[in-house]
Amino acid sequence: MEMSKEKLYEFIEKNKVGFIRLQFTDINGTMKNVEIPADEIDSALSSGIMFDGSSVEGFARLHESDMYLKPDLRTVAMLPWTFDGRRSARIICDVYNNPETPFEGDPRYRLRLVEEKARKMGFIPYAGPEVEFFILPRANGRPVFEFLDNGSYFDLLPVDIAEDIRTEVSVHLEEMGIDVETTHHEVAPSQHEVDFRYAEPIVAADNVQTVKLVIKTLAIRNNLYATFMPKPFFGVNGSGMHVHMSLFTLDGKNAFYDETAPDGISQTMKYFIGGLIAHAREITAVTNPTVNSYKRLVPGYEAPVNIAWSKGNRTALIRIPKARGKATRLEYRAPDPSCNPYLAFAVILAAGLNGIENKIEAPMAVEENIYKMTEAEKQKRGINKLPANLKEALIEAEKSKLVREVLGEHVWEKFLTLKEREWWEYSTNVSEWERKRYENI
Ligand code: GLN
Ligand code: MG
Ligand code: MG
Ligand code: MG
Repeated sequence: MEMSKEKLYEFIEKNKVGFIRLQFTDINGTMKNVEIPADEIDSALSSGIMFDGSSVEGFARLHESDMYLKPDLRTVAMLPWTFDGRRSARIICDVYNNPETPFEGDPRYRLRLVEEKARKMGFIPYAGPEVEFFILPRANGRPVFEFLDNGSYFDLLPVDIAEDIRTEVSVHLEEMGIDVETTHHEVAPSQHEVDFRYAEPIVAADNVQTVKLVIKTLAIRNNLYATFMPKPFFGVNGSGMHVHMSLFTLDGKNAFYDETAPDGISQTMKYFIGGLIAHAREITAVTNPTVNSYKRLVPGYEAPVNIAWSKGNRTALIRIPKARGKATRLEYRAPDPSCNPYLAFAVILAAGLNGIENKIEAPMAVEENIYKMTEAEKQKRGINKLPANLKEALIEAEKSKLVREVLGEHVWEKFLTLKEREWWEYSTNVSEWERKRYENI
């Protein structure tokens, strides 16, 4: 909700807010926070709250480590739980180098720059993420990687013992001002999904962070464990974070819709698809940034592998849902919830806008099941593949002019360094699978 300073003071009074959590997100997508007593908010608003940026992953260097948090008053909300009977509010912040200049490495700022670019091109962008996750048992304070239920898609009680948590999540998110559209059990056992109403990308990314925080917290409070890991189990569906996107013109019309086109899809949307397809390989390191991400992007589990678009087919990377008119949009199916949502939305939007700017033609839509096509068939139709692992994705990202521009030098460099290290750790580690597979050698 939009709020003036005066309204915020009233809000603090009315809700008896004891503490305020000032939140921001690091490069990895982890939410951080600093808590201040509510009566400190005045100085936080006038000069920002200082913090040590060198202790945050991918932020400042030691010698220039003082950074500032500037509360964004559109994000004021009560946290739904109490500690010792006291309640806290949260405010999401922008990160600044000093009270005047935004920090170029703040993921929220990177997304803001792409949103501004869209506006300069005459568009208001919208993003609608679908967040999938598993709720698993916990024992002795540690997660247990076993299923809690044997439920499946859209199941009802009594199989779904995490149902109460899902309902609690919806209630709390609504209280926090997030418009939940649906929650349901997903295809895999113990897997769930929360979808909320589309919004401008920064708001949608803020919402993803809030949704994750609420789900994780409620799971712990019920002595369970929620994970957004893309592929926690071999052999069943992983967790994706499909992102629906559309562009509206400044006078409020959906720029993806053309009522005179036989399929209702505008040229603008076709170029946006063209841009996404042309850049899909390079942006994947950002939308799917973990080693584990690539274990989800394999055939057979409703996750995309091939770079193609389609009007109905869930094996394609980009799907166009049936709705037309104001609801015309595309669904980009690669991202998973291990991504930093600010950076992921930034590269997806930038790739689409690049397609519009450069009039990149979309290839022909593919309506067949691509999992079942032979390599030769795919080659003939020019269907390329997403990167097969994090290393391949990093090589593409490093070559990408678009990714470098969108992330900015600071994030680009830090991101590649962090991720190269992650890949190195993974590829030099020896796993249980290897010991079993090679035990007779
Ligand atoms: N879990 C699937 C994925 O990995 C998506 C399933 C669905 O939403 N239909 O993307
Ligand atoms: Mg869904
Ligand atoms: Mg789903
Ligand atoms: Mg979907």
